[in-house]
Amino acid sequence: MRYVCASVAGSILFGLWLHGSDPAAAAVQAPSASYDVLIQNGRIIDGTGNPAVRADVGVRGNRIVAIGNLAAATAVRTVDARGLVITPGFIDIHSHADDGDENAGLRHSDPLRRAAPNLVTQGITTVVVNPDGDSPWPIKEQRERYVKDRIGPNAIQLAGHNTIRRMALGRDPRRPATGAEIERMKTLVAQAMAEGAFGLSAGLEYEPGRWSTTDELVSLVEEAARHGGFYIAHERSAGEPMWYYPSQDGPHAPTFLDSVRENIEIAERTGARVVITHIKARGGRYWGASALVIAAVERARARGLDVWADQYPYNTTGSDGQIVLIPEWALNDPAGGGTPNYAAVLERQLADPGKAAKIRGDITFEIVRRGEAANIRVFEHPDPSYIGKTIAELAKSRGMTAVDLAIELQMKGFTTRRGGARLRGFSLSETDMEAFASRPWVATSSDAGVALPADGPATHPRFYGTFPRKLRRYAIERGTQSVEEAVRSATSLPARILNLCDRGLLQPGYRADLAILDLDRVADRATFTDPHQFADGVPYVLVNGVFVVDKGKPTHKLPGEALSRPAGACRADR
Ligand SMILES: [Zn+2]
Repeated sequence: MRYVCASVAGSILFGLWLHGSDPAAAAVQAPSASYDVLIQNGRIIDGTGNPAVRADVGVRGNRIVAIGNLAAATAVRTVDARGLVITPGFIDIHSHADDGDENAGLRHSDPLRRAAPNLVTQGITTVVVNPDGDSPWPIKEQRERYVKDRIGPNAIQLAGHNTIRRMALGRDPRRPATGAEIERMKTLVAQAMAEGAFGLSAGLEYEPGRWSTTDELVSLVEEAARHGGFYIAHERSAGEPMWYYPSQDGPHAPTFLDSVRENIEIAERTGARVVITHIKARGGRYWGASALVIAAVERARARGLDVWADQYPYNTTGSDGQIVLIPEWALNDPAGGGTPNYAAVLERQLADPGKAAKIRGDITFEIVRRGEAANIRVFEHPDPSYIGKTIAELAKSRGMTAVDLAIELQMKGFTTRRGGARLRGFSLSETDMEAFASRPWVATSSDAGVALPADGPATHPRFYGTFPRKLRRYAIERGTQSVEEAVRSATSLPARILNLCDRGLLQPGYRADLAILDLDRVADRATFTDPHQFADGVPYVLVNGVFVVDKGKPTHKLPGEALSRPAGACRADR
């Protein structure tokens, strides 16, 4: 028998049943059945984590209607997938595809941006927007723009905690909220949920979220959950918080472990589904923390708490690309006014011995937090001989310490640029990344938005390469997980977290969000010096039955929908 998987055989019958009211009649008609799109001769990886099997896929309109042996079928468009695999389209649970003002990303006036070519060419068919606590307001208008102007991938909206907190607390949000303000925030959460949000996002390392208490979050997450929503949080800290300097903020700041414990507490107190987003242990002092965090999350899950995570497959973060090794407080010009000359500002500060000691201490701290001197690299500097070298290499060749080198970068680099150079730290350990990636409760996400080449060389390669990289580097080359599990982490797992009832699996009746991959070639091509390069090995991608990638090229079509929350829980047997 050609098809061995029982569930696929079941799907064939179900698929044929969809063609007409009489299953027997449909089965008889099957050989001559016609489809809008027919994908033949490939293998399917259905998103469950089950092994690949040979099967053809038939699409009619925006749905998958048949999976099985469709050799005799005809179609408006037939794709020969010999040597290729067909997977559900990837669902990106942490996306910056619609950040910023009204003319950004998926709401941009330029349809080329709304088509999100750098995302769909990775196989992404659905993005979850408004992460890290920031959403436009009201989100109803964002949704109306999607419907009116059309978008490439499907979009799922979140309500942003920071946005809501700013509205409720007004001018001075650097404090705990009052009872009345928490009530006001609950009203705003309820409004966003009514307008189509799938849940609440938080950005607790940023202002004003960093001033919120766990009690405040519990109240708001309870409110979101009451309307069927989940909670997804950028942690207070992935090691030490980005805002923290030992010389300014005392000995204590929330750690990565504190942040994970807070999420578990919120899950416990609310019963809500909680996602630890872009999970990572940042900086040399936290490498290895994945073991403790995994143990804590798995103990929580074992006692029934609804805790999950997502992760991007790069060992460098978004903020790692904007490193300023000189502490921010030391570069705030006391004289003020005019175009700042940061070299002059720093020189004045260092003339004060007390301040100089604090600055040097904070630089030492920042170097470790950003991955240590051997893992921080120079990307832009007036002296071309610096480019591509690490802080450790430059310091060694000059016979100075890494701290002195950081000071020299400001003194002899671009004087109007904080820090004097463009640096990137590689602040995450691959050991931690693989430990997280191997867990069945960790989804793959990009933490990236829409990009075009005009956006310049500082774009993180994850904007173009996330999902192909996960498959190439982690599944195929390093064996962190199987290809089928890596596909699951990008399809049925995020669909399960989001409670999507008809996306994330290859099944008849599901929406035709599909990626067709060449596993021999699939790979990210975007690099830190040349980021605007589409991934390899993703020849076809369909969103709602429409080709958004065809023969490896983006079509710039706009078939994406603003998705709505299903009324009840979907099947939980994934
Ligand atoms: Zn974030």
